[in-house]
Amino acid sequence: MTRGLQERIDCERSAQDGAAFERVYALADLPRIQDLLADRAGTIRAAFAFARCPSGRPGVVVEVTGTAQLVCQRCMSGFAYPVAARSEIEFATAAALPTESERDLYVLDEGLASLAEIAEEEFLLALPLVPVCDDGGGCGRAQAVDVDGGGETARTTVRPFGALGDLLKKTDRT
Ligand SMILES: [Zn+2]
Repeated sequence: MTRGLQERIDCERSAQDGAAFERVYALADLPRIQDLLADRAGTIRAAFAFARCPSGRPGVVVEVTGTAQLVCQRCMSGFAYPVAARSEIEFATAAALPTESERDLYVLDEGLASLAEIAEEEFLLALPLVPVCDDGGGCGRAQAVDVDGGGETARTTVRPFGALGDLLKKTDRT
């Protein structure tokens, strides 16, 4: 874990070698996730398999797993949300960015990619837009009932179709 968030990989060479890496990152060390967490404890595990893409550019298949403690947007309590996600990434330079790719594009900084940033991005994409602790009715509905009783309509903005779209996009690629 102390291998650090600064670790950057030479993608061209790693793809050439078919290199594979496994890393564990503390959730507390990943800056873009912090606002979503009810508790910063925990780690995510990431596996990277580098290979050349059909386009000839370097690419990586990344898998992240871990459990985040999120804040339920309905009852505001913390709950555990397990993540298991997989993505295929193609590396490109800003100067020669392809107009389309079957894979997610990751723009390289001097040929180097940050494993921690890739893992963080994948983890972030796998989290729900509107975290809810229990859709089956176990969530603290008391609050919602109070709101309804007051004659107000629900104020929560829910974007189920957006979330579903992301889900389909991610599962299609596997
Ligand atoms: Zn809840």
